[in-house]
Amino acid sequence: MLSPEMRRLRLGQIFAADVPLGVFQELPLSCFRSSSGLGRLHGGADCAQLRSASAVHRLELPLLLAVGELCTHCAWPVPGEHLLVAFAEAVSSLTPLRAWAGFQPRPVTEGSGRADPRAAREGQCRRWWRLQTQLLESHTVAAAYPWLASWVEPMQVTLAGAVDCARRDMASLLDEVVLLDVACAAALSAPEFGEGGSALVGPGPSGSWLMQEAWACWQQECATGWDGLEAGRSAATAVVYEAFGSRRRGRAEVLEALDRLVDDWDAQARALAAQHAAAPRRSLTVDLPPLVRTHNEEGEGDGLTGWEAGVLAVYQVAVHWSAGSIDLLVPGPVADQLLRSSSLASVVEGRDHPGS
Ligand SMILES: [Zn+2]
Repeated sequence: MLSPEMRRLRLGQIFAADVPLGVFQELPLSCFRSSSGLGRLHGGADCAQLRSASAVHRLELPLLLAVGELCTHCAWPVPGEHLLVAFAEAVSSLTPLRAWAGFQPRPVTEGSGRADPRAAREGQCRRWWRLQTQLLESHTVAAAYPWLASWVEPMQVTLAGAVDCARRDMASLLDEVVLLDVACAAALSAPEFGEGGSALVGPGPSGSWLMQEAWACWQQECATGWDGLEAGRSAATAVVYEAFGSRRRGRAEVLEALDRLVDDWDAQARALAAQHAAAPRRSLTVDLPPLVRTHNEEGEGDGLTGWEAGVLAVYQVAVHWSAGSIDLLVPGPVADQLLRSSSLASVVEGRDHPGS
C-alpha cells in the first residue's frame, strides 16, 4: 500500500527529454530495467513491459540521465511534500503550450458575415480571454522555475501571437464610436425628474420614479454592453412595460414621452463623444483579471462587462505578459469610465500621448 502522503508520478509522461530539469537534474531515481540493459527504465519490476524480460535489475541514476528513457506507463512514488511534485505539476500545466508551436498569425477574420453578431462577439471574446488566461497562467507558473525559460519562452511567444490574433478578431467585431458613445452615456449625470415636471404624470405609474428607473436602466445597459445607445433605449422601454404590467391605459403616452427623453439622453451622450473624438487620448495601464473557471463552462467569466472587455481589445497598444498588464490609449471618457470600474483590480493613468 502506498502511504497517503506519497504521490505517484508518471515521470515518463511528464518529463520529455527537452524539459530542462534545473535543480532536479541530479535527483537520484530508482528504476528497474531488463538485465539485458536494453529497453526503457521502469518505476516497478512488475511493469507489464518487463514481462518478457528474462531477468530484471534495479538501478539508481540521476533524473537527468533517466529522462528520455522512462517508461510512459510506469508511475514513480514520490513523497507528497517533495519539491519534485510541484515542479512536475508546473511542467504538466505548461506542456499544453506545445500545441502552439508553429502558430502563424493570420490576417484579422472579419466576423460581420455571421448571422448573429452578438453570439459572434461573445464567442470570440471567450476564445480570446481563454487563450490570454492560459498565457498569463503560464507566466505565473514558469516564474517559480527560472531554468524553464529556454523551454517555455518560445512557446509563450507563439501563444502570445495567437492571443493577439484573437484580440484583433474581437476588436474587428466592435465599433470604437459605440464604445465612446456609451462611455459618454455613463458619464452623464442623472437629470432632474421633479414630480409633475415631466409629461409623464397621468394614469398608471407616474412621473419621477418611473423616469428615474428608466434612466438608471438606460445608463446601466448602455455602459456595460457592446450594443451602444440602442440597447439603453430597449432597457428603458422595458421598465415602462414592466411598470404598467397588464394595464394599457396611458402606456402609449408614457412610451412616447420616454422616447423623446431617450432621444435627448442619446443626443447628450453623442455631443460629449463628439467633443472627445479628436481630443488627445490618455494612457492607462490595466492589470488583466484572469478568467475564473467554475465547474461548468457556462459559469466561467472574467468579471468584466462586455464594454470593458471590448475596450481592452480595441484600445490595447502594448502588453506585458510577465507583469499581467496592458497599456491602453483611450479617449478621455473611456479613461474615466475605466477608472471608475470595480471589476478591474488596478487601473493606473500614465502620461498623455498628444496627437494620437
Ligand atoms: Zn513501465
